[in-house]
Amino acid sequence: MGLFNLRKLKKEAASHLESRIEDLKRRLDDSEGQKNRALAVLESMVEGVMVVDSDQKVLLVNSRMSRMFDLKKEGVEHRHFWEVFRDPRINEMIEKTLKERVSASVEHSILLSDSVFQIQVSPVFGEGGFLGVVAVFHDVTKLKELERTRSEFVANVSHELKTPLTSILGFVETLKEGAIDDPEHRLKFLQIIEEHSKKLNSLIEDLLQISKLESAKEGLRKEPMDFEKLLGKILKILEMPIESKKIEVRLEIHPKPFSILAEPKLIEQAFSNLIDNAVKYNHPGGDIIIKAFYEDGFAVIQVTDTGVGIPEVDRERIFERFYRVDRSRARDSGGTGLGLSIVKHIIERHGGRITARSEAQKGATFIIRLPR
Ligand code: ADP
Repeated sequence: MGLFNLRKLKKEAASHLESRIEDLKRRLDDSEGQKNRALAVLESMVEGVMVVDSDQKVLLVNSRMSRMFDLKKEGVEHRHFWEVFRDPRINEMIEKTLKERVSASVEHSILLSDSVFQIQVSPVFGEGGFLGVVAVFHDVTKLKELERTRSEFVANVSHELKTPLTSILGFVETLKEGAIDDPEHRLKFLQIIEEHSKKLNSLIEDLLQISKLESAKEGLRKEPMDFEKLLGKILKILEMPIESKKIEVRLEIHPKPFSILAEPKLIEQAFSNLIDNAVKYNHPGGDIIIKAFYEDGFAVIQVTDTGVGIPEVDRERIFERFYRVDRSRARDSGGTGLGLSIVKHIIERHGGRITARSEAQKGATFIIRLPR
């Protein structure tokens, strides 16, 4: 073999080695890159993640996990998991998975502080066999709260529907058992049945309205409206109760015409509910004052009455569904307990806000701010 060839071979071997080294480097870089990518994924997860190795030491916690349980990363990693979590229920889950190594996951809702977590613990297997377990903590507090509100709502609706229905069935039964032949009472019983049927009807109408407001995906069809004209329409509809209670309505509207930007049907419903309440909860001979003015880019409307007022403890809650200050009083007035929650819904869908001010026995004021 000539010298030249030997040199060539050496050169070739060297270049081969170089490329192998490059290759290895790249692979190392790649595995480093893979590791970094995996860590980045873990860090960006909304779930808390903790990895425990087969020696029961904490290998890793992600940032979400540290925040969830106020853990200091340095103080946690490489420590026994029992030292990290004092909650025996969680630790028993981890221990069981470490021992049994079954590839099933365990799900548990656990109350920790004020949060509810769904916890999933799974074994991890690598090329070298069993590596440890990974525990994933999913904060389901909001979901649970939503579930609770929903089931509370269903319970309330059922109760509200049942009350008038029981009464209707009772009076029908009484009529059937002979009261139908009693000319003195039968009309009264029929009137009660009618009243409760109407109550059922308005309850269902309000419920449908709420569900419509909640499911509405598309935006509102807002248009400029003359507020005084709108009030005129509402006051005409409420003429009977206003007159029979001898209530005086005063309007203080500046400037005129006072224009608001709203979806006509919805805003009519909102103000009609508010004014209806101002009549219902007013004393006979009382006043209703409706003020409208512009302030800081908002149309501000205040509906004030001189009625029974709202005790301070109830003021925040009157906008909740079915919340009534005085259940017997409100029931007598024929209310569904949904009126104000519908008003709030409508105002907020318009990008506005509603608040209530009141002194017990001195009447109430509802303040609405609508963006112009
Ligand atoms: P309801 O159908 O019972 O009137 P709302 O949702 O309209 O239901 O009102 C909730 C509760 O708020 C009422 O039951 C009543 O106790 C109280 N409330 C509402 N408006 C007034 C008001 N103008 N004055 C006093 N209390 C009021």
